[in-house]
Amino acid sequence: EKIKICICGGGNGAHVMAGLAAAHARTEVQVLTLYQDEAVVWTEKMKQGDLIIARNNPDRTVEEIKAKPAVITKDAGQATQNADVIIFCVPAFAHKQYFEAIAPYVKENMSIIGLPGQPGFEFQCLDILKDKARSCTILDYESLPWACRLAEFGRKVDLLATKDSLIGSLISGKSQPKHDPVELLQLIFGEHPILIKGNNYLETVLMVKGFAHPALMYGHWMNWDGKPVEEKPLFYQGLTEFAASVLWDVSQEIVNTAKAISKARPEVTMENVEHFESWIIRNYRHTIQDPTNLYTAMKTNTAYGGLVHPMQEISPGKYIPDFHHRYLEEDVPYGLAVTKGVAQIVGVATPCTDKVITWAQGHLGKEFLVGSELKGKEFKDTRAPQAFGLNTLDDLLSLM
Ligand code: NAD
Repeated sequence: EKIKICICGGGNGAHVMAGLAAAHARTEVQVLTLYQDEAVVWTEKMKQGDLIIARNNPDRTVEEIKAKPAVITKDAGQATQNADVIIFCVPAFAHKQYFEAIAPYVKENMSIIGLPGQPGFEFQCLDILKDKARSCTILDYESLPWACRLAEFGRKVDLLATKDSLIGSLISGKSQPKHDPVELLQLIFGEHPILIKGNNYLETVLMVKGFAHPALMYGHWMNWDGKPVEEKPLFYQGLTEFAASVLWDVSQEIVNTAKAISKARPEVTMENVEHFESWIIRNYRHTIQDPTNLYTAMKTNTAYGGLVHPMQEISPGKYIPDFHHRYLEEDVPYGLAVTKGVAQIVGVATPCTDKVITWAQGHLGKEFLVGSELKGKEFKDTRAPQAFGLNTLDDLLSLM
């Protein structure tokens, strides 16, 4: 009998995950997508033919993988029916709604996987699923296994690149899962990414690289005069030394936070939390032309070539920055605000992170931070630990 997998989401990553799992002989896919009429449209599209994943391989060949999810629905009961595994593959701002939808149907032995979880995934999972979560296995991966973009909703997705390896953390529940969730994922992914077990969930929280987006947007737009620009600026190749220095400082504050945790509790290993500079130079060694430092590495990384700032075209050829893009809407409340919250708990000062959050929250129309403290009117809309009543290091460690 096939292992049933529920996949939450309807975007780029959800299409790849659904396609790969549906293509595997051992697994059957039930997609849950709650957004607008995605479930209806995707179901209609599946009547026209298979879902196609166009996988770009390192040898420059493109392979087509074709498969059909068994079910695509907005009904959480149907999507989770007989499922052993629930995989979140959707931006973090949508997670709450998915946790609430699946809550009545979560059973012990289930594995709940954030692919990626994004910072605060575990806090929200436990907050909404309560005791039920304690009988499940909770996995959280540092990123999506692939760079991917939808070519046609419901029909075709371009799998542009596959990561070599991916680190994830695991919180064991009171009940054993029927199938080892890591083995199952590896079976579906194939050779890459190689799934590596991280040390603990706090490590994963501090490893997520999404903070680069708000840091670079702040670096570029903090002094913007509000006038439209004639072209979309290059996000990485157009980097200034100032923007690179902001990213460097934010990353250092996160590394400082990891060190402070291990200093307070030597048994808590945080060795996978690495500075962005060494991380990018190592991970993109084949595509970076000048690895002298973070600034040169980012500017000369051909893998980042052509990527532009998120912009809105307000009239033909006139652009303004899109401050409601996922780069801020996701990576501030479900990214920087979480690492800030952890830093606050272990007493690490984060002046640069604070500047970025303060600037970004203005554009998001929210108040998370007041001065250097997470006590703004809307801080409970973030996934900072404090928003879930977790205020001490012991509180954070009690989840492990
Ligand atoms: P995406 O941008 O494709 O997600 C869009 C989907 O999210 C929509 O189809 C819809 O199902 C849902 N959605 C959008 N707005 C919503 C709303 N207001 N309410 C509820 N649902 C809504 O996301 P993705 O590219 O699949 O990325 C998934 C995760 O992986 C994100 O956390 C992202 O940061 C991360 N990630 C993506 C890539 C990539 O190459 N795509 C690479 C690295 C990390």
